[in-house]
Amino acid sequence: MPLISVVVPCYNEEEVLPKLCDELRRVAGLMDYVDFEFCLVDDGSADGTLELLRACSKADARFRFASFSRNFGKEAAMLAGLQMAKGDYVAVMDADLQHPPEMLVEMYEAVKDGEYDCAAARRTAREGETKVRSGGSALFFKLMNALSETEYVEGATDYRLMRRGMVDAVLSLPEYNRFTKGIFSWVGFKTKWIPYVSRDRAAGETKWSFRKLVRYSVDGMMAFSTKPLALSSILGVICCVIAVITLLVTVVKTIIFGNPVAGYPTIVSLILLVGGLLMFFIGMLGQYLAKTYMEAKHRPVYIVRETEDGLK
Ligand code: UDP
Ligand code: MG
Repeated sequence: MPLISVVVPCYNEEEVLPKLCDELRRVAGLMDYVDFEFCLVDDGSADGTLELLRACSKADARFRFASFSRNFGKEAAMLAGLQMAKGDYVAVMDADLQHPPEMLVEMYEAVKDGEYDCAAARRTAREGETKVRSGGSALFFKLMNALSETEYVEGATDYRLMRRGMVDAVLSLPEYNRFTKGIFSWVGFKTKWIPYVSRDRAAGETKWSFRKLVRYSVDGMMAFSTKPLALSSILGVICCVIAVITLLVTVVKTIIFGNPVAGYPTIVSLILLVGGLLMFFIGMLGQYLAKTYMEAKHRPVYIVRETEDGLK
């Protein structure tokens, strides 16, 4: 029988984990025509998540886990899970049951014949979310599509089931700054989008503050687009053209009307504007440089402290 690995990143999820494990077992029972393995990754949780994972894997050998030495972030946890997974198919799912586990049935139907390489969940509506957040999410997808070559389907989530071939492709990207949404679309392959309505978290609370989400979006854009760098050159050229025109106008005016000293406020605002633009673009350049610096260090994306086989 084919083996499906389900990768679940968990960060401080002690409240929802027992429910999740029950659900996973239930869905595995429904799909008795495949084998399952569950790769749970504890992303340096500070609560009882790790104890629960230990207990879970003791009770049921299908549950495997890896526990990080500290919090490395969801992207790192997903990577660790994908590297751990041995399955012919690998699914990635959130721990909070916002990604309904029973969707795996439909996802497997889509990929099993090889017509699709991947079946992914697309969020059409969300329960219990603020206007600001869903609006921000829509804006993010628009910006991403405008900025980068890869295509982003609106509402695309990380919840998906992939064939081994696609998993290996994802793992072959060695970058340190991992923006998985971008990586999934960059590797290509045929993806079937399955719409669903996102439910409220089953328990616990979201780990993403607004600030973290903005940071994540900016990182994502930088990881998959260098267009902002070109933007500064374009703006620079425009500024130069305007400067030449105003210079010419001033020269002509001075020749015709003499040189009454005026326009001090204009000069101040122009200096401020140009200075501001320069700072902005130098800052942006710095951000890209910083990313390159981090990549050049070749640091591991995560460090594992413990697995189901004991301490490392
Ligand atoms: N997560 C993680 N590391 C982090 C933050 C989140 O592994 O630093 C996991 C978390 O446990 C959950 C998933 O990522 O399984 C999605 O997080 P959350 O539900 O808080 O995000 P939201 O659904 O609100 O976007
Ligand atoms: Mg969630």
